[in-house]
Amino acid sequence: MARVLEVSGLRKHFGGIKAVDGVSFHVEEGEILGLIGPNGCGKSTTFNCILGQLAPTDGEVRLDGRVVTGMRPSELNRLGVSRTFQLLQVFPQLSVRENLILAGQEHKGTMLSRLLGPRDAGLTAAADRMIGFFKMSHLAGEKAGGLSYGQQKLLDAAMAFMAGPRLVLLDEPAGGVNLTMLGDLKDRLQAMNREQGATFVVIEHNMDFVMSLCTRVVVMAEGRVLAEGRPEEVRRNPAVIDAYLGH
Ligand code: ADP
Ligand code: MG
Repeated sequence: MARVLEVSGLRKHFGGIKAVDGVSFHVEEGEILGLIGPNGCGKSTTFNCILGQLAPTDGEVRLDGRVVTGMRPSELNRLGVSRTFQLLQVFPQLSVRENLILAGQEHKGTMLSRLLGPRDAGLTAAADRMIGFFKMSHLAGEKAGGLSYGQQKLLDAAMAFMAGPRLVLLDEPAGGVNLTMLGDLKDRLQAMNREQGATFVVIEHNMDFVMSLCTRVVVMAEGRVLAEGRPEEVRRNPAVIDAYLGH
């Protein structure tokens, strides 16, 4: 399997705070990697360093074998990588379709067609296919600001796939989402992976959500990687239970 992303010895220190302190992990093509760990252990900072929002103190990030450390977010977007933030990033005044078109504008269809199928390479057509995959056809013309919170989180995730046909980093996609919408979200993310071959990393606090969605899980604690493995292995790992799952 090809390695889409490889993070090696990543560090980000803020003065004396070692937010990320020597993190290494990789993402293989076609997998859903979970990134979990207690609040403040450095998960979002890791995403910020991968996507160029923050310059790492040390370490290397490779995308498809190519060193991309310190590249700007817009350059990484062009290479097919995107992310969501813990807080929603949808444009409330624009429709669902317009939000998706805007999110995909770096890719003009060619790269998107790898993810969404080759039919029509146009951006509007790609947005409509994404709307179909996310089962939002009935909402396509609605303003994003008028959707429920859970629907906006779905749209936010769909936008990330438009912006990052190669790799998506989702920061707490299920945060604050109610139980019904949680099932929808998991279902759509799973379909994006199994049917469309999407590769992504998910930061998430909801343990059942992570464990049932992800193919592999990396556990962080205090800026480092504590454990890594299949969900059932990680769940049984005494160090993980001690540091995280136990409380
Ligand atoms: P997580 O996403 O795992 O909850 P974060 O990556 O957001 O954790 O934060 C890791 C640590 O780094 C925390 O102690 C946080 O307070 C600190 N931190 C994050 N961003 C900054 C920043 N811009 N300046 C200073 N400290 C920060
Ligand atoms: Mg965070």
